[in-house]
Amino acid sequence: MSLVNLYSDTQTRPTAAMRAAIASAEVGDEQRGEDPTVLALQERVAALLGHEAALFLPTGTMCNAIAIRLHIRPGGDELLLGRSAHPLHFEAGGQAATSGALLTPLDGERGMFTAETLENAIAAHPVGDNHAPRPRLMSVEQTTNMGGGRVWPLAQVGEVLAVAVRHGLRTHLDGARLLNAVVASGVAADEWAAPFDTAWIDFTKGLGAPVGACLAGSSDLIAEAWRYKQMWGGAMRQAGIIAAGGLHALDHHVERLAEDHANARRLAEGLATLPGIVLDPDEVETNIVIFSVPDAPGLCARLEGAGVRMGAIGPDRVRAVTHLDVDAAAIERALRAAAAVVRA
Ligand SMILES: *Cc1c(COP(=O)(O)O)cnc(C)c1O
Repeated sequence: MSLVNLYSDTQTRPTAAMRAAIASAEVGDEQRGEDPTVLALQERVAALLGHEAALFLPTGTMCNAIAIRLHIRPGGDELLLGRSAHPLHFEAGGQAATSGALLTPLDGERGMFTAETLENAIAAHPVGDNHAPRPRLMSVEQTTNMGGGRVWPLAQVGEVLAVAVRHGLRTHLDGARLLNAVVASGVAADEWAAPFDTAWIDFTKGLGAPVGACLAGSSDLIAEAWRYKQMWGGAMRQAGIIAAGGLHALDHHVERLAEDHANARRLAEGLATLPGIVLDPDEVETNIVIFSVPDAPGLCARLEGAGVRMGAIGPDRVRAVTHLDVDAAAIERALRAAAAVVRA
């Protein structure tokens, strides 16, 4: 029986229909602005996120790297972001190297900090104090990946944005899984993303495309972003081949994220009944399930032997992520395997 791969929503393979769209994509030289499929995708994402312009990039990591470089002035500028945020842990320390940024982690429930926490962090580094770094940029991760796929409440996003703007900070939305938040909340993508200076979505998470992400912002910021795309080797040629996967995903793989969310909830409810596993299914809002267990690497190794892959994200924490290659029947199989492994 095939593996139930809940390791990550990055593990999806393109569907036959997506491969057909990729195979028939019109292409041109992207660096010259002549790839019609890339141009179409950029226009589509700019409109979706409520921004003037957008830039197709190979990865979400490059979206963060370029956006942060646009906002941060090397020379003591500070980026304030959630303690579990992606740039702090999974981007090879890149913000220190490519932007010279000081990253200040903010505590908060499941990756979501409050306006008060942000206000206090900014107050700790007052304007005009030559001893202090300069608070310059706030980043919000929606949904919170290592926070368990939580959806920041719209009001809380509004509150942290208000604090950031009042203090003259730039604002960035890491929307790797923004469309999961859109489907879970019913709040449109532009309502989430337009108030930020820059925002991006990833095509390789729940959307199920093989390559690519798209960064949106003002025409001026995106023009400047093009310089870094070129400088850092992210400018491509007939990139319509991969952009076609993104367009296909926006057409066919957004509403279906609701299935992933229902599957994650079902997985969480089943896991919560097993001895030694601690989680609250009500905290599962989208496609990520994080639970506590005494020996996470041990459990994952035994699950793998039983045909189910999950990821140990710490000595006692496991992450399971649903996506379009895992259907409801596979979730039931995963639960039967988990029950057998836990009881053995
Ligand atoms: C995956 C992810 C990224 C990086 O995206 P890649 O396309 O894998 O480079 C950034 N932020 C968050 C929250 C992510 O989940």
